[in-house]
Amino acid sequence: MLLGLLVLGSASVPAAGALASVGGASAPEGPGAGGAEFGQPVGRAAAQPVAALFRVAPRTLTEGQAPKIAVRIVQHGVTTVVARVDFTPVHGGTVVRVDLGRIATGQTVAPRWPGSVRLPAGSYIVRVHARDPAGAQLRRAKATSGRARLTVKARPKRRKKATAQPVVAPAPAPTPTPVVPPAPAPAPTSGGVFPVQGAHTFGGDGARFGAGRPGHIHEGQDVVAAEGLPVVAPVAGTIVARAYQASGAGYYLTEDTADGRSFFFAHCEKDSFAVTLGQSVAAGQQLCRVGATGDASGPHLHFEIWVGGWRRDQDSHPVDPLAQLQAWE
Ligand SMILES: [Zn+2]
Repeated sequence: MLLGLLVLGSASVPAAGALASVGGASAPEGPGAGGAEFGQPVGRAAAQPVAALFRVAPRTLTEGQAPKIAVRIVQHGVTTVVARVDFTPVHGGTVVRVDLGRIATGQTVAPRWPGSVRLPAGSYIVRVHARDPAGAQLRRAKATSGRARLTVKARPKRRKKATAQPVVAPAPAPTPTPVVPPAPAPAPTSGGVFPVQGAHTFGGDGARFGAGRPGHIHEGQDVVAAEGLPVVAPVAGTIVARAYQASGAGYYLTEDTADGRSFFFAHCEKDSFAVTLGQSVAAGQQLCRVGATGDASGPHLHFEIWVGGWRRDQDSHPVDPLAQLQAWE
């Protein structure tokens, strides 16, 4: 079937407070301000991937903030590796994993921090892992350790009561299972209009929320449909973003709705915007048409649902939109 073969585009959007965009984005070279940089370029042939650069900055941050990661993997004769970054709590606890997907070798990649991933307060050993197509794993040497330290400070709490808190909380037992915390999705609402007017499918596994993308995680659901079909507002709201991003979302729109959610529509057909920035829209009102602009290999609507605003701050985050889309069908 057609959809199984599509490699769907991703929407990596330049965004307030988010990390740099994805895939070969050139991160600043040299020691980052306040960051920890490890390793030197490796010129000779290697039978294993090597982390010529791995930087996590800043070294200390506050809960709710996301670290900036820059990584460059090199390996002679190998063009891509599958990579991830693991944050292992020094004092035990759940390993937080950020999948980078397939990344190009020889380029500095600055992955966007996935909005649904949180780093609890604590000290972490951060390690980049990489696997080449033959299965060889990252080779670590002193100068190319692919490792960094990170401290996440607890956010100052609002004092509710003066009762003494236990000084030492029991450390949770280390678990071997890396877990990406699932974003709690608000219950889908039944009232509303499906955003693509016409025949569509939800594609394969790669089209799902949370699927791996080079340098980041897919933060929406792809709705595969024919080029030119109307894209409409599922519920009434206001258009709060209308822009173009060649390297990711193409022509995209964001709608804030009355219930506090934000909907993000990407890869619209060129010259198909039917609304202006700041415009109020009704449920079912046309916004644009299905296209394949930006980083998309075929026509589809990339649809995201955000809670707490669209890329507004550290607390805003995307949720899996599939159940909501199905409720609108
Ligand atoms: Zn997508």
